[in-house]
Amino acid sequence: MAFAKEQMRFTDGLSGRREQPRDGISLRQDQERRGNRMLDGELNAILAQVQEIASDVVAPLSIETDEQARWPEPGLRSMQDAGFGGLVVPERLGGKGHGLFALTRVCETLGRECASTAICFGMHSVGTSVIAAHATADQQSRYLTPICEGRHITTLSLSEAGTGAHFYLPQTSLEALDDEHYSITGTKTFVTNGSCADSYVVSAVAAEPDAPVGKFSCVIVDADADGISWGAPWDGLGMRGNSSRSMELRGVRLPRSNLLGSEGDQIWYTFNVIMPYFLVAMGGTFLGVASSALEEARRHLLRRYHAHTGLNLAQNSVLQHRLATLWGSLERTRRLIYHAAQSYDAGEPDALIAVMAAKAEVADTAVLLVNEAMTFTGGIGYRKGSKLHRMLRDARACHLMSPTTDILRVWIGRALLGQPLLAD
Ligand SMILES: Cc1cc2nc3c(=O)[nH]c(=O)nc-3n(C[C@H](O)[C@H](O)[C@H](O)COP(=O)(O)OP(=O)(O)OC[C@H]3O[C@@H](n4cnc5c(N)ncnc54)[C@H](O)[C@@H]3O)c2cc1C
Repeated sequence: MAFAKEQMRFTDGLSGRREQPRDGISLRQDQERRGNRMLDGELNAILAQVQEIASDVVAPLSIETDEQARWPEPGLRSMQDAGFGGLVVPERLGGKGHGLFALTRVCETLGRECASTAICFGMHSVGTSVIAAHATADQQSRYLTPICEGRHITTLSLSEAGTGAHFYLPQTSLEALDDEHYSITGTKTFVTNGSCADSYVVSAVAAEPDAPVGKFSCVIVDADADGISWGAPWDGLGMRGNSSRSMELRGVRLPRSNLLGSEGDQIWYTFNVIMPYFLVAMGGTFLGVASSALEEARRHLLRRYHAHTGLNLAQNSVLQHRLATLWGSLERTRRLIYHAAQSYDAGEPDALIAVMAAKAEVADTAVLLVNEAMTFTGGIGYRKGSKLHRMLRDARACHLMSPTTDILRVWIGRALLGQPLLAD
């Protein structure tokens, strides 16, 4: 079934406007390069390096990251030092030139050891891709160059208490102060990497009473700008290393050159950059969690012996059958995520439906696998401090991180029915 590309455009759902991509040739070239990068051996080399970082740096700190709700700085620093800060920045802007497939595989590799580290890196990469999409020369030198050189972490600051899961409806206001400056005022919630990043990609609406709904802009706000204050440290059930804090911006003054794209065209960013990158970053992270849960279950079946039979649980056919069913769920989800990311990188028209479905499915799969793995591991897995204990809490976040599972499924249904995604 073919879906017209514009069915997927948020823009159409709100106002009937069609996308007018600027700089179309370089964006298309970036996409072609991303498609080709999937085929070369460089990604395997990157994944081998990320695996080393995951095993040597991330895994040993994962308990501490969770128990002390500590932002996973050492893991992120290692990723930067290895040159992956600019993983998704096009080569023409100094980055590695990879796309969604690489991002999801990297997040999967990190997510097997620590979901917080994976999401923190993922959110940096999403913020980076938003900056890179239409970067000016000034934004390239002030943000992308330090990002690619491993000297700068950015992140996405969209959600607000007032509009909740509808992250595309900010109420934070952006006001023109003079020809050179804007002022931004509002409160953001759940900002992952909050208070730890060097800059924040913040969404805001024009401070005009009659500004159309959804006509919002994104700007880069430097961490050291005057007027920013942070809410209480993040103390979540899971994803405890995320530092997902609330961020108050009170009349923060910023240069107009920090505007991303043009005023009011952020709907384009939402569906063409933020959503795809964010969804596959989460897809990879929670795929990593699900894979790790299956491995915990498998190992437990092999090592748990009963005194009365002298057999291990691996000899039990009910458990063998259940393990096989879980493997099937995991592999179906893995194939969907990889397919979705590769389709997007290749510029296929229906890719966004697959990307949305991938994130909705991985939320179900991760919760299912971790839950089931906990049943397999009996009282041993149920103990506080077990790896599954942490993974169970981490996996629950996937359903409620925007776009949430329910919202994604409504959007997928609408897309399949040829309706605009934002019909309500
Ligand atoms: C660990 C974590 C990290 C996060 N990181 C970031 C980040 O880095 N940047 C950022 O901007 N945000 C981030 N968020 C915010 C996140 O993406 C959501 O926006 C936020 O969790 C929504 O919370 P809420 O309680 O306001 O949801 P609510 O809007 O109150 O929604 C509650 C429930 O109602 C459902 N619901 C609401 N409206 C509809 C509808 N129309 N149709 C169907 N169901 C609906 C939702 O799906 C959800 O399940 C993060 C959140 C968490 C938990």
